[in-house]
Amino acid sequence: MTNNKTKFIFITGGVLSSLGKGLAAASIGALLKTRGLKVTIQKLDPYINVDPGTMNPFQHGEVYVTDDGAETDLDLGHYERYLGIPMGKHNNCTSGSVYYEVIKKERRGDYLGGTVQVIPHITDQIKQSILNVVKNGEDVAIIEIGGTVGDIEGQPFLEAIRQMRYDLGKENVLYIHLTLVPYIKTAGELKTKPTQHSVKELRSIGIQPDIILCRSEMELNEGIKRKIALFCNVDPDAVFSAVDVENIYEVPLTFYNEGIDQKIAIMLKLPAKNPDLTPWINLVKKLKSLNPGPKIAIVGKYVDLKESYKSLHEALVHGGIANNVKPELVYVNSEELTQENVHEKLGHVHGILVPGGFGSRGVEGKIIACKYARENKIPFFGICLGMQCAVIEFARNVLNLPKANSSEFDPNTPDAVIYLMTEWYDFRKKCVQKRDVSSEKGGTMRLGAYPCKLKKGTKSFEAYKRELISERHRHRYEFNKKYAEDFQKKGMVLSGLSPDEELVEIIEIKDHPWFVGCQFHPEFKSKPMDPHPLFVNFIKAAKEKLRCS
Ligand code: GLN
Repeated sequence: MTNNKTKFIFITGGVLSSLGKGLAAASIGALLKTRGLKVTIQKLDPYINVDPGTMNPFQHGEVYVTDDGAETDLDLGHYERYLGIPMGKHNNCTSGSVYYEVIKKERRGDYLGGTVQVIPHITDQIKQSILNVVKNGEDVAIIEIGGTVGDIEGQPFLEAIRQMRYDLGKENVLYIHLTLVPYIKTAGELKTKPTQHSVKELRSIGIQPDIILCRSEMELNEGIKRKIALFCNVDPDAVFSAVDVENIYEVPLTFYNEGIDQKIAIMLKLPAKNPDLTPWINLVKKLKSLNPGPKIAIVGKYVDLKESYKSLHEALVHGGIANNVKPELVYVNSEELTQENVHEKLGHVHGILVPGGFGSRGVEGKIIACKYARENKIPFFGICLGMQCAVIEFARNVLNLPKANSSEFDPNTPDAVIYLMTEWYDFRKKCVQKRDVSSEKGGTMRLGAYPCKLKKGTKSFEAYKRELISERHRHRYEFNKKYAEDFQKKGMVLSGLSPDEELVEIIEIKDHPWFVGCQFHPEFKSKPMDPHPLFVNFIKAAKEKLRCS
């Protein structure tokens, strides 16, 4: 096993899930970056799916898409937002992908007749995936292990990271364990027992954590920290509180105030400079001084699990930061939206956003929302399926094609204004890409970054202020160019096209304060310190609507 100088930080979680391990990992990465270190980061997911692309957002939250077209865990979104470095397929690894590689090797006969086993074959493959995340001689690689210590699926991953301390040397590997220290109201006390049990579990498989991060409602006092240190066999100054914060972007500074990055730098003997925290301090200051902002309705079907629209939610917050406002986000279930109740549900909002999605459920409600925004001149932002709904609505009600639809929802529609192209030029692969229409997954999907050329004098150009952009895609269906002229004659502007002009990437409506729909997902690239221009201008238009109302 070779690795020249990169130090590895492994982050495990105990007691229960949803403690914010992803945010903790991203925040530690951000802090190390402020100390001038080159950082990379990876998520290991113990589930059997090869990637989260097939997973229902209701269950697993958003599928985050990278430039290189990987469908990944939503924690990679946090990593990009906090670290400002683009993630790719190597930054996420699942049990499914590990087994898939091992089984392929077994079928090829690579194991020369040997019995293929979890240890060493699966664990070796995991270690290889971890080492593969280091691409450019990074100083530090942060590896977050999904799930909770004790999960059956997680065991090969824990065994692999246990071995890595021996492979790479003690001085190059650090284990951080995130646990919960609950506050029991009736006793008026913070309880350390769940942490003790969780660390005991970790030690039973041979991993002694170096640092314990305790998520809790309030700061742990010295006494509690000493108790945890004693029972869990760590230095007393290696137990830290990770207290609840109002805004997720406060986490790096709270970690800094605890001294977490300093302890990591000392333990790993990192050549770290003093941190420059100015951008984070300014960001938090700004977040605390935002004025109440416009009401934005998000009309989608995954409204019950907010994690399904994670990046979207963050991008709207970022758009607000750029406009000095905190938008009020209202989630509206598109399945419940009708012509009769649309005014009641959307009449009071200052902006309407229809996000992406798959399948016909809730689509008619989204189309009603598009119509309401167009007719009432409410700032509108349609993303992927949201753009497709805006196109269908315009075809039905402005072009007078009452049966217009996407062939995804009505394969027999006489006017498939959104349809499945069987081939297109793939600029990344520099060849004509054919879609395997018979396969439900993979081959049929346009995934990852594609270039787009903007028309001058449009709302899109005004936002981006340049001609050539690149944005991330995750969809099968496209705008049907056969109808392009009809749409344009009636006031729709095709403001963004693929460089070969075959694919329509952005549409707008003239004579409307701000009506933009894009075939890609701009939310994946928005960052708190670099808000996405379309979100900035959407919020700006909504803010104007609020001012005039
Ligand atoms: N279902 C649509 C398509 O596949 C839109 C996908 C999306 O919104 N991500 O084209």
